Parts: sequence; C-alpha cells; structure tokens
Amino acid sequence: MPIAEVLLTSIAVRAPSLREVRTGLAELLRPVAVLRAELSAGWPVEVDTALARRRVKAGRPAFDALELLQGAGDLHRPFQRAAEAFELAGLATADQVWSARTQPLATVMMLGASWLAGEPLPRLEPRRLSQRAAAVVVGAVLSSAAGKVRTTVRSGTEDRSACPACGCSPEFSIVGPSGRMLTCARCDTRWRTVRKGCLGCGAHDSPTVARIPSPDVGYDLVVCNGCGRYMKERTRRGGSDLLVERALTSQLDAAAERRGLRL
Ligand SMILES: [Zn+2]
Ligand SMILES: [Zn+2]
Repeated sequence: MPIAEVLLTSIAVRAPSLREVRTGLAELLRPVAVLRAELSAGWPVEVDTALARRRVKAGRPAFDALELLQGAGDLHRPFQRAAEAFELAGLATADQVWSARTQPLATVMMLGASWLAGEPLPRLEPRRLSQRAAAVVVGAVLSSAAGKVRTTVRSGTEDRSACPACGCSPEFSIVGPSGRMLTCARCDTRWRTVRKGCLGCGAHDSPTVARIPSPDVGYDLVVCNGCGRYMKERTRRGGSDLLVERALTSQLDAAAERRGLRL
C-alpha cells in the first residue's frame, strides 16, 4: 500500500488528540464565544472601585454578583442573541430557540440568579437552553465587572476559598510549581491560593477526598465526601479558553451533579 494511503488510513482511524478536540470545540463554539466577547467588552457595567477595595480589605468579595446582575440593565436582547448563538453552533434546534426567546425578562433574571447560586443545569428543554443562554449573558457581565477590579483582587486574597471578585465558587484548580491557582466558575477571575485540599472543609486525605482521573480530557474530578463539594483539577498542559474547557469537562460536572455534589 502506498505510504500516503497508510498514513491517511491511520489518521482516519486514530482517536483525535486532546489538542484537536480543543480546536474542534473552539470552532464549534465560535458563535457563542464571539457574542460573549462582544458583551464582555461593550455592555455597560458599573463597579465602584473604591468600594471594591474597601470590601476586599475587609475580607469580602469586591462586588456582590446578584446586585450587579440586578443593576446590569435590560439583558433580554443579549439573552435572545445567546439562544440564537447556540442554534448557530448547532447546539440547539430552532424550536428550542423560539421557546427560549419568548421567555420574559423576569424569567431571564431568575435563570441568571439560579446560575449564580450554582443550581445544576436543568435537564429538560427549553429550560436547559434558556439557562445556558442566561449563563452566557450573566457570565459576560460578571467577567466585565471582574476586569474592572482585577488589580484590587490580585493581592491579599491568597487565603480565599471563594472568588475574591464576585464571591462565587471556583471551578478549576491547577497545581503547579508556583502553587495552586483557582478559576471562578462565574466571572472567570483567577487567583492564587495557599489553601490545600477541599475548599469547603479543608479535608485532603482519602477516602474523604476522592480523585477520579479523566485522562482523555486531562482533568481529575476531585470530590469531597465530607462536605459534598467538587472541583476539576487540570492534570495536563494546555487549555486557556474557558468556554472550551467548560465544554470539554462538562461530563465531569454531570457526573458530580448525579452524585449530588456542588462546586
Ligand atoms: Zn468570580
Ligand atoms: Zn470538603
């Protein structure tokens, strides 16, 4: 068999590399990423930075996520556009988008608030798509606000187990030579922490803390049987696009939620 054919055959049958999976996900999610970036950069979000500094100094998050959401203006049109972006990406049907689009603003705000509170993604449509669309919009607003307090939360927050910007729980943990870095599940703020083990109760020994490796996506699901918290810890290099990392590790969240765990 000619070498080119052998190569092509082997390429056709081998499993895609993690890098190729990430590239594929980034391609798929592009319509959602474009909208999120546009909202993050352009949606008017007010943050009192002097108040944020005082709050951080007092050991509190820089701003209150729910308050920020309530003052974020009319998010109805961005919500509808987010639902459409999922359809463009091939992740929702026209019917689901139509049902999501007809949700009143009050429902959108309620979905945003339940996402902030860490409620699991609803299983049934059209609520599932509506929750995902609300998460895109509220996430963009929060990350925009977090950008305004980035320098404020950079130091003096090493003992925090919750996000120093918005107060929500971390989702990702990376342990490297320079310590442990956490990433907020809601506003994408990263912060270095001296905290080890479970961020809920401090446990770090087996069997209270269990580590379930998922080498195909390069993460471990770390669960605490003591307090019911979980975290996704990256074990392989690569992955800086959080939208992609969330899609890549969504089965870990689903597995954790089935066990009744929360971030
Ligand atoms: Zn945050
Ligand atoms: Zn715990």
